[in-house]
Amino acid sequence: MTDDDFLLLNPGPVPVREEVLAAMGEPMVSHRSADFEAVYERAQDGLDYVFECSTPDGESTSAGGTSIVLNGTATMGMEAAVANLVGDGDEVVSLVNGKFGRRFARIAERYTDEVVRVDADWGESIDVADVEAAVSDDTALVTTVHNETSTGLVNPTEAVGEVAAEHDARFVVDGVTCIGGAEFRVDDWNVDVALTDAQKAIETPPGISAMYLADGVEEHLDGESAPFYEDLDWHLRKAGQHQTPFTSAVPLFRALAVAVEGIESETMPTRIERHRRQAAAFREGFVGMGLDLFSNPDGESELSNTVTAIALPESIRGDADDFFDAVAERNVSISGGQAHLGGEIFRVSNMGSLSDEQILRGVRTVGEAMGD
Ligand code: PLP
Repeated sequence: MTDDDFLLLNPGPVPVREEVLAAMGEPMVSHRSADFEAVYERAQDGLDYVFECSTPDGESTSAGGTSIVLNGTATMGMEAAVANLVGDGDEVVSLVNGKFGRRFARIAERYTDEVVRVDADWGESIDVADVEAAVSDDTALVTTVHNETSTGLVNPTEAVGEVAAEHDARFVVDGVTCIGGAEFRVDDWNVDVALTDAQKAIETPPGISAMYLADGVEEHLDGESAPFYEDLDWHLRKAGQHQTPFTSAVPLFRALAVAVEGIESETMPTRIERHRRQAAAFREGFVGMGLDLFSNPDGESELSNTVTAIALPESIRGDADDFFDAVAERNVSISGGQAHLGGEIFRVSNMGSLSDEQILRGVRTVGEAMGD
């Protein structure tokens, strides 16, 4: 790759390997064929590895669970998890310190009037004491986003999972921009449902998402209260036959099978270490040119190893179009801030299989664009 090639550094979709793209072009088959079932089974096996073994030593952190694939992006997975675990009048506690934490709360508010938000400013840590105060034996569900893409902050999922477990509440964790690139511990963090998107650290084109349901959670699912398309009981039953209830996005499932096999051959410990090192390089590069990190983790929060959010300097803040244009002119794509953070920050991702040279090019491009 040369400096003239397009470099995609947005926090999803991320660059996709050639063999993953090639899998999508194979001749079409029926989603009820043995050929397709074999594809789905390969995707499930690879996903089991990614969901269960995302640890620095590669050891499994799950006593068992089931990986399923949904025909829809992660927002559909978020909604499916909430809709199947919450009925009208059930209490949900949602942690909100960024756009995607807020999205979980907004989804929950469509299914019950009893949503308690535990808030912190975007980019600031959630206080676990606030979670302890909010969760009670009446809480049916706790939602959190482990890696908050809008701010580059990692939330204290382990501590929150302990609180949920003490009160026998189900715990749904959005691992969308970390699973496949950073540490994620299913049973150690008491996670009942974990979700991710194909187009993030799993390195597949956008359009489908994956969910891991820990053993036992099926007893709590009420598919009848969920949208028909998102009945997770049904999805689980069909996943046992390596099928989906409705027509599968066959090309994307094929791409996913190849992508997760690639992750398995690299191994999660190697990926976690590579992502950690490359995120640190982004931070060091930007801080080295005098920029400030946007998020301020304290307590049990941390900075992300997959998404970096940088505060725009005062001189560009509020009117950052020239800066983003100057980056784009150099054939590099980065993201701005979301919601009220528009014009305040920029964000880059190191999810997937970027080279160290590409990380350095990202840093250099930002530096040059700021000088324009
Ligand atoms: N959760 C997180 C943490 C995300 O970063 C995103 C997308 O960026 C989503 C959920 C929603 O993903 P999608 O827009 O693919 O549904």
